[in-house]
Amino acid sequence: MIEIKNLQKNFGPHEILKNISLSIPAHQVVAVIGPSGSGKSTFLRCINGLETITGGTITVDGHVIDANASKKAQQNEIYAIRRKTGMVFQQFNLYPHKTAVQNVMEALLVVKKMPKEKAYSIAANLLEKVGLAAKEDAYPSQLSGGQQQRVAIARALAMEPKLMLFDEPTSALDPELVGEVLKVMKELAEDGMTMIIVTHEMKFARSAADRILFMADGVIVEDAKPAAFFEHPQTARAQKFLQQVT
Ligand code: ATP
Ligand code: MG
Repeated sequence: MIEIKNLQKNFGPHEILKNISLSIPAHQVVAVIGPSGSGKSTFLRCINGLETITGGTITVDGHVIDANASKKAQQNEIYAIRRKTGMVFQQFNLYPHKTAVQNVMEALLVVKKMPKEKAYSIAANLLEKVGLAAKEDAYPSQLSGGQQQRVAIARALAMEPKLMLFDEPTSALDPELVGEVLKVMKELAEDGMTMIIVTHEMKFARSAADRILFMADGVIVEDAKPAAFFEHPQTARAQKFLQQVT
């Protein structure tokens, strides 16, 4: 599903991602963890083309972003990848003047040019899936953070992505609202969605992910199954990190 070869990303003179290579099969749930500033968000943003890459290639479902290809060729591949990828950020970024169901319908109407009734029916189903059937007509300001984030997940799912990227989706939430969002993500994982999740929720990473990538200083330092990683971290970096966060 995803094949990354020698990915390098610089910001000016700073090497942020250093020669990362890895592949992720379809339906795998990958949690990316590591210290602040280690490059986790940059890594996710490279995968769906929110950052231009400095070196290497990223292949998602057959579409290849190649750092050596022309800007135009890269842009075309990025568009193709984005059509298959949903991304959920720490900030929910819902349209404030649209209701929950209108937020979920938006891309279906604008991008897919779907008739209103069909878009509505899909959006209503997705809101039900994330436990918000009763909140269809609520505006974001009338929803809790956890509810807004679940609307954002439903909105990403509306485009029927093959891959979902999450960048600390629960970090902006009050602690009591984290669980409801993680539950929706866990259900998605169980449905077989391919997911890459940057998270500080170690319990969730351990229970929901198939694989842990521990990133430090722009390098994937450990790549292991959750039980192995959390019980027997191989490197001093990971051991120290786990002591600090658990
Ligand atoms: P956190 O856990 O705090 O979210 P992170 O692992 O997601 O951290 P990144 O946001 O990927 O880290 O940042 C990695 C490094 O790249 C940091 O040193 C950051 O300052 C730098 N960086 C990120 N975005 C930019 C940018 N647009 N321009 C310059 N430097 C950047
Ligand atoms: Mg980040």
